[in-house]
Amino acid sequence: MTPCPIQIFDDFLVCPNCDGMNLHQISTEVYFRGEDAVRGIKTTAFRFVSEGRVESGVEASTGASQENNPSPRRDGIAIRFECEGCDAEPVLLIKQHKGLTELRWESGKPTL
Ligand SMILES: [Zn+2]
Repeated sequence: MTPCPIQIFDDFLVCPNCDGMNLHQISTEVYFRGEDAVRGIKTTAFRFVSEGRVESGVEASTGASQENNPSPRRDGIAIRFECEGCDAEPVLLIKQHKGLTELRWESGKPTL
């Protein structure tokens, strides 16, 4: 996966694939852990379509694997989108790195 620069136009997030602005959140994963811990908190809020209706759900665990945590050592957030303008399902990553917070795109398919 290739990181892409973040673009914002008039306060709207721009799709990293097609430059469109019609992005819809489909899930958000939030990770908290002690530094370098292999397990910690993972909360996922998501939406899905069931029998033509949009539904939503949440999963939470205090002893979850941190394997998909955007931060290799600390806390992180992954917000997954779908785009009206293309087939991309971009993922916006927010990750803690020492005293800094890094924000960047990473493309990929949802793992839910
Ligand atoms: Zn797009």
